[in-house]
Order: sequence, then structure tokens, then C-alpha cells
Amino acid sequence: MEKLKQTKVRDLLRSKETGNDCLVRGWVRTKRGNKNINFIALNDGSIIHNIQVVVEVADFDEELLKQITTGACIEVTGTLVESPASGQPVEIKAKEIKIFGTADPETYPLQKKGHSMEFLREIAHLRPRTNTFGAVLRIRHAMAFAIHKYFNDNGFYYLHAPIITGSDAEGAGALFRVSILDPKNPPLKPDGSVDFSEDFFGKETKLTVSGQLQAELGALALSLVYTFGPTFRAENSNTPRHLAEFWMIEPEMAFYDIHDNMDLAEDFLKYLIRYALENCMDDLEFLNKMYDNELIDRLRFIVENEFVRLGYTEAIEILKASGQKWEFPVDWGTDLQAEHERYLVEKHFQKPVILTDYPKEIKAFYMKMNDDNKTVRAMDVLFPKIGEIIGGSQREESLERLTNRIHELNIPEKDVWWYLDTRKFGTAPHSGFGLGFERLILFVTGMSNIRDVIPFPRTPKNAEF
Ligand code: ATP
Ligand code: MN
Repeated sequence: MEKLKQTKVRDLLRSKETGNDCLVRGWVRTKRGNKNINFIALNDGSIIHNIQVVVEVADFDEELLKQITTGACIEVTGTLVESPASGQPVEIKAKEIKIFGTADPETYPLQKKGHSMEFLREIAHLRPRTNTFGAVLRIRHAMAFAIHKYFNDNGFYYLHAPIITGSDAEGAGALFRVSILDPKNPPLKPDGSVDFSEDFFGKETKLTVSGQLQAELGALALSLVYTFGPTFRAENSNTPRHLAEFWMIEPEMAFYDIHDNMDLAEDFLKYLIRYALENCMDDLEFLNKMYDNELIDRLRFIVENEFVRLGYTEAIEILKASGQKWEFPVDWGTDLQAEHERYLVEKHFQKPVILTDYPKEIKAFYMKMNDDNKTVRAMDVLFPKIGEIIGGSQREESLERLTNRIHELNIPEKDVWWYLDTRKFGTAPHSGFGLGFERLILFVTGMSNIRDVIPFPRTPKNAEF
């Protein structure tokens, strides 16, 4: 028999043509049957569903069939036929089976279904083989693709921000140091401090917390840009919404004010969620059934409703009048915690909320000052179950006001001279925001812990895989 080309399980399950020979490769999910006939559920990751392989026991070597257990990797050649079983359009009548790799039933950790998410995190090297992680990883891919498509279709250019940074002016959190100096015996300056001029880059360097400052440099030349890359925060925040290494999407737009910025954020999020509904339904249905019965309704609700837009000051009034008991008390000037954000979104408005005009003290130095000299043109997009999914602002374009602000905050000018140059030479009004990619995936998949929406999570005390 002439060697057939491999067909993906997804294409077989969607194909309307039966009667032809086909070749599939994948991992055995289950094998059941009796002494005459075996049924193998085979999955190759191309789709949540398995294809059923029907094996006439008499036609095959007994030893070979014995080795086909859950987790084994096999190749099957056979005829695609209509399936008499319900719930699957087609199945394969096996003619030939080859084993690539066995998986000892005594030791294979995914022998049974229904493992806890905690246990699966301990075997993150194998968890992509579960239905749940297959679904999450396919949705994650679809969202990354849709992000690039959205921006490309709307005239944005993808700007690659550096991962190693020499400035820590952003103020978004604690940084990881990047160094090749001997930690036991670093070169010292006369005052006893470490002499980073002898380090690889000739200065102290860190892993970036955000690509925004570089995105601004790009926007003030290409008008519309976005970054999409890994960012790092060395905070010990052990929450279901924080990772030490996460991916961020940061569009930056010349000539956009805060309202244009909010319009873009809302349109962008709705586009991505609509894309998931239109392209990932198999996986969403699985997650909806197994984890979160309201998932698909919630996604539809976002697409169909306008986001509420509200000032921080009004939000504080609402929270203070709510009669709720807070873990963190609220008053004008305090940063909002997830409990406050979720109250506004889930209880008070029951819609996504975009909050604007935060006190300058709780926001970054580059945000545009309002005329009141107390608040800045910040905007946070708050989502049900997540809290903050996007943080953004209109940027301060005035050299004078920006310089005053960095002096107030004791940021050394020598660290940000290149950033200030954009305000010195051809400055322009501009805005942008950062969307945490994993927060988006949390929302779209309905998973409850951010560690379960990235293949190999990096969190405090955890970098095994
Ligand atoms: P939070 O208050 O939730 O800790 P933040 O205000 O520190 O977030 P920003 O600096 O505004 O976050 O970052 C922009 C976006 O990046 C956030 O809106 C969020 O979606 C995402 N994000 C921030 N920190 C993390 C993290 N540690 N892990 C995953 N996503 C994050
Ligand atoms: Mn923020």
C-alpha cells in the first residue's frame, strides 16, 4: 500500500467523505472493548474531540494491542467510515497500527480523568495532553492570532520592545535583575556598592515590566504601533490573577485622546471575544460544560453591551455608599482593589466599566495631568470575575509638565532623557494601554487561576518546567 499522508483528527471529523483510506497519528486517550473488538479514542491536539479507531482484535497481533494503553502514541492507517455511534460523525476501521511510544499504565500520571488543577500544575510537562489544557492552549493561540489580525487590519505596526531594560522608571513593580557579575564576589565601587559599569551592559539592567515607553517612541514616528511580548514583575503577589512572567499587549497611538483610547480598548476587547465565539466554539463548549456554565453567556454579554464609563471620583462615591464591608477600606486617594473593581462591575453596573481620572499619586509619572492638578487621564477597564484587565492613559505630551512631574517623583533625568526627547522634538498628543494577555485568556476560558492559562507559569518559588 502506498504511504498515505497524515490527516489531522480535526479534518477527519469535519470531512463529509467516507470510504477512503486515511492515516492519523496521535495519543491514546482511552481503549475499551472486548475480546473481539477494541475501540481506541485517539487525539492529536488539533481539536478537543477524539476520533474513534475500531480494531478487529483477530486482525492484529495480541502483543501490539496490549501496548496500546492510555497515553501511548500511535499511528493508525484505516478506512474512514460513518460511525454508528451517536455523537461522532465518522470513525476509522483500522487496517494497520504502529506504535511510536508506549506509556506504562503503572506510572503514566494521566491514567485517569478528573485530576485537580493543583495536581496538573505539578505535571505541567504533561498537562497539555488533557482536554482542558488542549482547549485553553488552542484558545490562547487563537487570541494571539486575533490580536495581530486586529492591529494589522487597523493600520497598526508591531513594534518589538526590548526585554532587557536599563531604566526602571516605569514604576509598575519590582524588577528582576539581569547580570553576569559573580554574585559572590562582584566588583565594588569605593563606597562599597556594586560597580555595574563592569557588568555586561556597563550599567545595571533588569527584565522589563512594560514595553510602553518604547512603544511611545514608535508611535511618535509610525503613529499607530503595538507591542506584544513577555513582561516581568518580581512581586510576591500570590494571587489567582498575577504571574511573575506574563505577556502584555500595548498599543500606543499618536493623536488619540483618552476618549479615542477608550473607544479602541472597548472595540478591541469585543473583537477578540467575538473572534473566540466565532472560531473556538468546540473548546468553549467544553469549558462551559466542565468548569463554568455561564461562560458562553458571559462572553456574549460583553460583545452585546456598551461598557460603562465613569470617573474615579464617582466610583469612590458609589463604593462608599454601597454599605459593603471591605477588606481594604476605600476613600478618595486609595487605589482600588479587586474587591472594589468587582463590586462595581458585578453588583452595581453588571457591565464592564472603564474608570478614568484617577488621583495622580496612585498612577505613573507619564500620565496626562488634568486641569484640577489632582487627577490624571488614566483609564482602567474592569471586567467581571477579573477586575482590571486593561490599564492605560493619555500621556503627558508637554515637556514642561512632564519634567516637573519627574522632579516631583525624584526620577533622575539621566534615566529618561531619551523619553523626554520625544516631548522636546515634535511632541504630539498620544495615548495607549496595556492588556494583560493571561487576564484576557482567563476571561475567555472561564478558568479561575492564571497559572492555568499559560503553558509554563512563573510564580514565586515555581520555575520547574
Ligand atoms: P494589578 O493592579 O491588577 O496588579 P497593575 O495595575 O499593576 O495590575 P499594569 O501595570 O497597569 O498592572 O499592567 C497592565 C495590565 O497588565 C493589567 O491591566 C493587567 O491586565 C496585566 N497585569 C499586570 N500585572 C500582572 C501580573 N503580575 N500578571 C498578569 N497580568 C498582569
Ligand atoms: Mn494598572
